[in-house]
Amino acid sequence: TRTPVTVTVTGAAGQIGYALLFRIASGQLLGADVPVKLNLLEIPQGLKAAEGTAMELDDCAFPLLRGIEITDSADKAFDGANVALLVGARPRTAGMERGDLLSANGGIFGPQGKAINDNAADDIKVLVVGNPANTNALIAQQHAPDVPADRFTAMTRLDHNRAIAQLAKKLGVTVEDVKKLTIWGNHSATQYPDIFHAEVAGKNAAEAVNDEKWLAEDFIPTVAKRGAAIIEARGASSAASAANAAVDHVHTWVNGTAEGDWTSMGIVSDGSYGVPEGIISSFPVTTRDGRFEIVQGLEINDFSRSRIDASVHELIEERDAVRSLGLI
Ligand code: NDP
Repeated sequence: TRTPVTVTVTGAAGQIGYALLFRIASGQLLGADVPVKLNLLEIPQGLKAAEGTAMELDDCAFPLLRGIEITDSADKAFDGANVALLVGARPRTAGMERGDLLSANGGIFGPQGKAINDNAADDIKVLVVGNPANTNALIAQQHAPDVPADRFTAMTRLDHNRAIAQLAKKLGVTVEDVKKLTIWGNHSATQYPDIFHAEVAGKNAAEAVNDEKWLAEDFIPTVAKRGAAIIEARGASSAASAANAAVDHVHTWVNGTAEGDWTSMGIVSDGSYGVPEGIISSFPVTTRDGRFEIVQGLEINDFSRSRIDASVHELIEERDAVRSLGLI
């Protein structure tokens, strides 16, 4: 029998954690034949709730689940980790300045990066979900000098999935008909969902839409502000769809993108498309055998260029802010 894959989830007792853990334990993250061990990291106040979730996980009798560890020690939580989903983060509260938010998260993601560096398995893959996800991922990555930088990623898959759903609805096609959509930049309101290279049932999506006003005034803001719209409607932030996107992100990273398609991931820039090297920005990527590559050679029109630049500019500002705070 296969040795179990160790999956560490931080903020495990939170909303997203609750939607995520059952999917991982049922085999949807890594595959229906891959046994998993779950390591749950929580802050001390969250441990009891995490134990409650672990009781429910036991009660599912998932055949693939080979053990659950619950701890408030990052060193223990990342011990032998093959996959780490960093979900817990310090939310922005009323009156909080950006510097305060970044400092609070630096205090979480710096030590977690170091704990990953010191304890995780050699093949560790990290997905940061907790916001500000790109910059939190950068902080963690900078504290893990022994881990290849490309193992630290930030989640823009929810934005990617939201954009596919909106585009499919507009064109009256199924989501499966939409390929090669790209989210560029930051997982924030400045993100840029790009349909100029997307294909819908084999045709160019931007040509099929043929409506720049819809693109600029409807599609892009709808995707970028979807999180707020869900809070408004549900009275709580999106959790199941965020967990679903985290599952998709890791599943695609491990199992590969389909021929003729790509996905969006926040990854350390190699300078492609004018995005400064070292920042964690979303790109179109193909994945294969657990590795990913940025899709090269896409022509970027003026409409796209200005939007990519604006989001990348925000990431540069966030990087400079965490630098000047001494967090990286
Ligand atoms: P959630 O599980 O709802 O959210 C966790 C994080 O995911 C937040 O940073 C949230 O950002 C982010 N996120 C990213 N994408 C989305 C999305 N589409 N929709 C909603 N959230 C998104 O938070 P809870 O408060 O329920 O749970 C957090 C848990 O983390 C708590 O149990 C807490 O104890 C724990 N925690 C652990 C820490 C640690 O491990 N050191 C530190 C801090 C908290 P946003 O804030 O923008 O909504």
